[in-house]
Amino acid sequence: MVQGSISAAQLERLIRSLDTSCILSPEEWLAKLDAGRLAASDRCLTFDDALLSQVDIALPVLDAYRLKAFWFVYSSVFEGAIARFEVYRMFRCRFFPDIDMFYALFFERVTAAFAIDARAAVPDGDVDRVRNAYPFYSANDVRFRVLRDRLLTNGQYDAVLDGLIADRGLTLAELAAGLWMSADHLRSLSAAGHIVGLHSYSHPMRLGDLPDDEQRSEYEANFRHLTQICGRPPITVAHPANSYSDRTIEILTDLGVRCGFRANMAPRLPGHPLNASALELAREDHANLMRRLEAQRDTG
Ligand SMILES: [Zn+2]
Repeated sequence: MVQGSISAAQLERLIRSLDTSCILSPEEWLAKLDAGRLAASDRCLTFDDALLSQVDIALPVLDAYRLKAFWFVYSSVFEGAIARFEVYRMFRCRFFPDIDMFYALFFERVTAAFAIDARAAVPDGDVDRVRNAYPFYSANDVRFRVLRDRLLTNGQYDAVLDGLIADRGLTLAELAAGLWMSADHLRSLSAAGHIVGLHSYSHPMRLGDLPDDEQRSEYEANFRHLTQICGRPPITVAHPANSYSDRTIEILTDLGVRCGFRANMAPRLPGHPLNASALELAREDHANLMRRLEAQRDTG
């Protein structure tokens, strides 16, 4: 199973652990949000990135419980692009008996190629700090993410991963086949009372750092695509990789977006309020919920 993904049985356990009467449909959620009447106990369900596994595995569980959700979709993969981050995630989780075997090989390749001692490049104190904020990460998960997101350039990271994939005799296109939903999936979700929302066009990892015009074209292209597929303009967003700026919020507001989700339970800046605006609602990762649920089972 891909790291960060859960099985149908786990999703069902998660849903049963919540009071299902607190899980609002997207329509109810938006109505209460607009009226300023969302209660602390109100919940909604969200799925990001248009993965085919979400309709194959999660949707039947939602249907069984008569639940509707928000689905946040980036458009490039519907128009022939391959999103490397998703292919790489699948490769490292499915093609190694355990994720630490992938990390060992990755650290070895980085050290050999770029004169970085990959295992020592991230100080233990930094690792601990990240793990306090994201307790579901292992120390190696953190080292890997810091190397990928900060210490290596995109080109260096892609070169290492493409090399590992080629060593297996595989191609990106082969790995990408069957990863994402089709336009028909989006249409039927939308027709069935789910809400399909914005998630940018190409899922940049630091959208909030992009120049204004690039941010705007990311969201305008995403907006056009979803409007065309679903037959109505999107009014919700989840910020890809939790990245946005004040400017992003203005662009989304111009597009008529009324509700937006962050990717964690922290405010944008330390000391700022949680849920600072309707476009910055805090969101809990299912990995944290699952972890708490497993801990309860172990002790109870
Ligand atoms: Zn995403």
